[in-house]
Amino acid sequence: MAKKDYYDVLGISKSSSQDEIKKAYRKLALKHHPDRNKENKSEAEDKFKELSEAYEVLSDSQKRARYDQFGHEGVRSDFGGGGFGWKDFTHSEDLKDIFGSFGGLGDIFESFGINTGFSQRRQSYGPQKGSSLEYKLSITLEEAATGCEKESKISHEETCKKCQGSGAKPGSKKEKCSACRGTGRISFSQGFFNMARVCERCHGEGEIIKEPCEACRGKGIKAVTKKIKVQVPKGVETGVRLRISDEGNVGLKGGPSGDLYVLIYVESHEIFKRHGNDIVVEVPITFTQAALGAQISVPTLEGKVKMKIPEGCQYGKVFRLRGKGLPSLRGYGRGDELVRIIIEVPDRLSKKQKVLLEEFAGESGQDTGPLRKSFLERVKRALGG
Ligand SMILES: [Zn+2]
Ligand SMILES: [Zn+2]
Repeated sequence: MAKKDYYDVLGISKSSSQDEIKKAYRKLALKHHPDRNKENKSEAEDKFKELSEAYEVLSDSQKRARYDQFGHEGVRSDFGGGGFGWKDFTHSEDLKDIFGSFGGLGDIFESFGINTGFSQRRQSYGPQKGSSLEYKLSITLEEAATGCEKESKISHEETCKKCQGSGAKPGSKKEKCSACRGTGRISFSQGFFNMARVCERCHGEGEIIKEPCEACRGKGIKAVTKKIKVQVPKGVETGVRLRISDEGNVGLKGGPSGDLYVLIYVESHEIFKRHGNDIVVEVPITFTQAALGAQISVPTLEGKVKMKIPEGCQYGKVFRLRGKGLPSLRGYGRGDELVRIIIEVPDRLSKKQKVLLEEFAGESGQDTGPLRKSFLERVKRALGG
């Protein structure tokens, strides 16, 4: 089944403002909340996820711009292999805004794995997802045209191998925290209420590391420099973010790793300028080539090709080489190469050349070119005489 247009999902137009997008999401999220649609809950869950995916993309100006330009393909790399998942949803604050006043409706998000802070079941020292990282990757225009595999050196946090993430020196044991008796929490009363706070001594762990692991100084994680391979799809341009799942920082307490984002930067090219999927090149030719016509050699991304310059070619004329531009990131079609002709007037003439040109001028008169003729006619009309 084809994926629905995000604007249709939220029932808004392409020109909607951020405010309108938020309003539309709010209205539909309230309507389709799974807990308010108990008779067809799984349908509502799907619908709710669909809404949230559309909101995730359209509420982010960068993602929205890529979606407007490339459709679903433009944001595919923002989500994991299986597409949008709740872990990709970055607007739990908005959910809190929307559902904050509806008691209990927040629990559903916890079951999706979104920590909204609604429910107190999740404890502060439970599993935590590792943070995501972003790296910039420079590639050449040629590499953007063909796609490429690049090796990139990154630094991320991994589980310490020496202590297997426990933070305790191998062979030593952790000790139960005496302050909280291993619970990680300290109870106290305030008026009529029994409250609990996180134990300061063990930071809620319930255990104390007596002899910290030397490799990670008791943290259980270590920064590691690693080489990773990045598959760059053809047609990418500066600003495209590729997502590599699980190569961000390692999660804590068994939580999932964060993701690694590779931000593409396409270097400027010595001869080609890029306009979307088209490339533009300016090719200088001599004025005799322009006048007499010629066969010239033109650079393309795949090497040189021959091109015919017709007789009487004028300055600035643009020739289009179909399909010699960049492939579309969407996977179909290719841009063109636009060849703009620059005519160069010789700046040093030999005596003989001068004589020949004077002879040429005498033969042709001064006012014979099409531009010159049309210019003189317009001058005549405007100024008279
Ligand atoms: Zn360690
Ligand atoms: Zn403690």
